[in-house]
Amino acid sequence: MTAGAELLGTQDLHVHTTMSDGRLSLDEVVALAAERGVRVGIADHVSARTPHLMVSTEAKFRAYLDAVEGADVWRSAEFCWCDDFGRLLPDELLARLDYRVGSNHGFPLPGGGMGSPWWQELPAPWNADPQGLMDAMIVELCRMVRTMPIQIAAHSTLTPPALFALEEDVEAWWTPEREDRYVQALAESGVALEISNRYRLPHDRLLRRALQAGVRFSLGSDGHTRAQVARLEWAAATARRVGITDRQLFAPERRLG
Ligand SMILES: [Zn+2]
Ligand SMILES: [Zn+2]
Repeated sequence: MTAGAELLGTQDLHVHTTMSDGRLSLDEVVALAAERGVRVGIADHVSARTPHLMVSTEAKFRAYLDAVEGADVWRSAEFCWCDDFGRLLPDELLARLDYRVGSNHGFPLPGGGMGSPWWQELPAPWNADPQGLMDAMIVELCRMVRTMPIQIAAHSTLTPPALFALEEDVEAWWTPEREDRYVQALAESGVALEISNRYRLPHDRLLRRALQAGVRFSLGSDGHTRAQVARLEWAAATARRVGITDRQLFAPERRLG
């Protein structure tokens, strides 16, 4: 990268390929990113949750590392909070990653079972206690950033659509007190908060609180398709609107060629 070139909007640190559930091969991602003037970090799903769609065995993870090391990209992986697979991989393999991404694709609930940030409808008993579900999710997000060995929390403020069907104002769910708890967990853990171009998250008030608290940020397309990969327009505009500059961005240490 040219010295002095702006980082904001030119680093997409969350991209998928056909090595997990992306539609484009690694070569296609590299070519498309170059066309769009963006440096990319490959962060395919490393998880045993959906084996045929993910890097789901140690042998597949070795092959994945070999592939990303052969391309001019940052080497990353997206690990699930709801799945221990990533923790069980050998340290010498994990050390080959430039950085790690962690995601709430599901979270344990008090009383048992797993919650989903994609729930369209709330099962019992949570249909009678939607604010309780939100509290439970915040507890798990805080635990995720405090305990997972990750540098970036991806699409972390994703909130079940079932809650927005009850009340569409994001601040009814992300109250100031909940925002403060999550922002504090991010600030104390040093984990960067992803601004997701795909999901258009987080909302401005939480980003402003995080900025004030000294949290770092990263921009990610979470791109799985040609239309998404290396597209950061919304994320970059949002970052600029709330006052985030290059100085607050997480940047991988290794320089690309
Ligand atoms: Zn994800
Ligand atoms: Zn992703």
